[in-house]
Amino acid sequence: MKPASVRQLLVLRPRAVACGIALALAAAFLPAAPAQAAVSPTVVSLTFDDGNADQVPAAATLKSKGLKGTFYITDEWIGAAGYMTRANLNQLAADGNEIGGHTVTHPDLPGMDLTEAKRQICDNRAMLQSWGFAPTSFAYPFSDADANVEAIVKACGYNTGRGLGDVRSPGSCAGCLYAEKMPPADPMYLKAPDQVDSTWTLAQLKAIVTNATTHGGGWVILTFHHICAPIGTASCPADTSITPTNYNAFVTWLASYTAAAANKTTVKTVDGAVRQYKGNNYPAYVPAYSVPAPAPAPVGVNALTNPSLETLNATTGLPTCYQAGGWGANTPTWARTSPGATGTYAETLTVTGYSSGDAKLLPTLDLGQCSPSVVAGKSYEMSVSAKSTAITQFALYYRDANNMWFYWTSSPWIAPMPAWTTTTFVTPPVPTGAVAVTFGLALIQNGTLATDDYSFVNPGNAAVTAAGSVLARSASTKVTSANVTVATSTKNAKIATKALTRGQQVVVAPTGKKLKG
Ligand SMILES: [Zn+2]
Repeated sequence: MKPASVRQLLVLRPRAVACGIALALAAAFLPAAPAQAAVSPTVVSLTFDDGNADQVPAAATLKSKGLKGTFYITDEWIGAAGYMTRANLNQLAADGNEIGGHTVTHPDLPGMDLTEAKRQICDNRAMLQSWGFAPTSFAYPFSDADANVEAIVKACGYNTGRGLGDVRSPGSCAGCLYAEKMPPADPMYLKAPDQVDSTWTLAQLKAIVTNATTHGGGWVILTFHHICAPIGTASCPADTSITPTNYNAFVTWLASYTAAAANKTTVKTVDGAVRQYKGNNYPAYVPAYSVPAPAPAPVGVNALTNPSLETLNATTGLPTCYQAGGWGANTPTWARTSPGATGTYAETLTVTGYSSGDAKLLPTLDLGQCSPSVVAGKSYEMSVSAKSTAITQFALYYRDANNMWFYWTSSPWIAPMPAWTTTTFVTPPVPTGAVAVTFGLALIQNGTLATDDYSFVNPGNAAVTAAGSVLARSASTKVTSANVTVATSTKNAKIATKALTRGQQVVVAPTGKKLKG
């Protein structure tokens, strides 16, 4: 059976954007201008982020009104529950909609390793191109960007990058522009209102357009995430959703408003707007390219970054290049503890309320900065220094050439380790198609587990005969048949099967002023 992909489990909902001066909203949202008010040429772009499945009927509404939108796609989510399929994307494009880029896995880009950020942006564009699209427009995850990230978006071949929260919106930005300029001052960070949320009324949506037309015109870029009801559920969150009723009413109004020539307003995709203001200077399509992951480390060299966990990622609160993983019903808590097995710090996991699944720290399931590259068919030796009060086991994952992560396998169980113990697991041969691996020492009971000194080494050919076994390197741990269930046992097989269908990745909401998109 082909293993299911490891999908994103949780996207923390972004906080409200703080933009400009918080003032009474009445001034910005007067009723629609009277018909005799002078209007200026205005372009409206309807953009849709993340590839959510509930955007498919929203696209059908656009089509029924002869309108086209821009859909910013995070390719790793396509085909997952709650997201569009490849067939949906093909239909969108066939209907004249634009397919734009939104990174491989939707990370917060500023502050990332720049090469890894480039993989996120360029590899996503390359994947969309391989699917038959020609992406020229990009939107920043969480609308978060800086000069480095904008330069990468341009270098990957995009004409624009869309932000959020810099144009007058019902909930913020009262002193801001009524619309982006046409052409924009900075195409790599297009100014747009806040993302549409459930508090926006139909009148406010219309007013965004009509106020732009009566205040010099320009480019109004509206951003939708979910079009769904009822509002306020996990799949229809209040801060990223609009009801189909309001959405359909707005689209219907917009179609008739733009049909009247006197309103001087048109609906275009983002690329369509760029084509309008660039005219004959519209640039040639830049072919997409991907950014290779690092080559596998030489034999005998630890392939991990920050192996002793001494460097902290201030955004996640976890060691740099590591993430928390886990699934099932249990409550993990994390603490940076001192001293470590070596050095100043270790990471201590406490699990309470356990009834199923696991929790673990593991080198980040990324595109190459933290997860070590491997050669298919080779066995690797991974080790962790640990202190534990309960049973643990190694859990392994691999990435394929399409940047998709899959559950791979687990080690036998490892008995509690009262003192710091270095435990080593030799992997089976890396499966065909795998290009990188990550692993964690998983706590699978209530208890505590401190880990430190992670290692991932290509031992050459020496280890193959021991593949699949745990090699206890410390006298304090006995790994015997009495306290170890072999990886092929029913219980481990069940854990493995469940892990196939449970997401392991956690996207941590970034800190900073712009947290939408
Ligand atoms: Zn997004």
